[in-house]
Amino acid sequence: TRKLDVQQLRQDFPILQTEVYGKPLVYLDNAATTQKPLAVIEAMNDYYTSSNSNIHRGVHYLSQKATSEYEIVRQKVQRFINAEHLHEVIFTKGTTESINLVANCFNRKFLKPGDSILISAMEHHSNIVPWQMACEAHGATLRVIPMNEKGELQMDAFTDMLDETVKLISLTYVSNTLGTINPVREVIEQAHAQDIPVLIDAAQAVQHIPLDVQDLDADFVAFSGHKMCGPTGIGVLYGKEKWLDQMPPYQGGGDMIKTVSFEKTTYNELPLKFEAGTPAIAEGIGLGVAIDYLEQLGLQNIYDTEHALLTYATNALRQIDGIRFIGQAAQKSASISFLINDIHPFDIGEILDKQGVAVRTGHHCTEPIMNFFGIPGTVRASLAFYNTTEEIDKLVAATKKAAMMLG
Ligand code: PMP
Repeated sequence: TRKLDVQQLRQDFPILQTEVYGKPLVYLDNAATTQKPLAVIEAMNDYYTSSNSNIHRGVHYLSQKATSEYEIVRQKVQRFINAEHLHEVIFTKGTTESINLVANCFNRKFLKPGDSILISAMEHHSNIVPWQMACEAHGATLRVIPMNEKGELQMDAFTDMLDETVKLISLTYVSNTLGTINPVREVIEQAHAQDIPVLIDAAQAVQHIPLDVQDLDADFVAFSGHKMCGPTGIGVLYGKEKWLDQMPPYQGGGDMIKTVSFEKTTYNELPLKFEAGTPAIAEGIGLGVAIDYLEQLGLQNIYDTEHALLTYATNALRQIDGIRFIGQAAQKSASISFLINDIHPFDIGEILDKQGVAVRTGHHCTEPIMNFFGIPGTVRASLAFYNTTEEIDKLVAATKKAAMMLG
């Protein structure tokens, strides 16, 4: 592994030089979305400047150029997550659409009345609501793997919940609110011992932890481009061929068909079967460059850098009187949720903002976690490899100031 030169790589992100309210921006809302390196922005610009054309169907020069630029990204994703087959990489709008795709198509094929789907107590709304909708549609039950007060999955309870009614488990790799890194390998092993497939919501994992879908043996993996230094509007669903082949298509339209008549339509092969309509071409190309960027830094180097920063930040914040960390799992990613005494998180967030410090406040699309802890929300500082210890010091100073003003 290699130590990242953070000061140097910050130069790659134009927005990090921004000032807000006359103060240098301290961007600590990376779990919501990460910033984009110039190379990603330029690649999208280049596409519109010199390749713009619709893909997959044109015989002309530009269309073929655009198609190949876009399809190369599928290969990059395949390599990045180590998928066995290229056609196991489906492009979507993001994690939300990837999960909805599985919740619709897998369940239409496999879910029957009396069956159940397992999720966990720390899921993002996008890994709750699609399953609720599917369960309602098919007469199945949604069951929730509990967590403990530290925000860790209760593995004993999970083991006990595995029975013949369970048709699929959908679990987040990393909690966007608590930072918990779940033992996904163990979950998948136990599930597979009973032939139950597992979907991993990797929205908060791909940009922080090296991911190898074959090594994990995950059945489905969902993630978003915009949380990994890429653009919004593009994401990935990885699915094992054996599942994707059996699933009916998601949306109907162009590209997903082989032949269409008013009497009967035949569907295209994977992956196009699940990719109806003109995709987000520029965004896909941007995602490819984001992957290049992350790979050039090295995911293990990113993990090590962020982990050191997490330790530094946790120790520094711990010095603040009345601070309470929400989420104290032994295995944590670089996201810190906290409260100070009974001050409303929103009020802290507003004062931090005026100091140039961007954090997230609220329920972070995880209302059940807030209900579990009996709190209205948290202040969440989510770190990225381009954050510095000086920025953490500013977070701590601004939080102290907020505590003093509001306490
Ligand atoms: N799952 C998790 C764990 C997330 O953090 C997010 C984004 N906050 C999502 C799913 C949804 O991702 P998107 O909004 O990009 O579809």
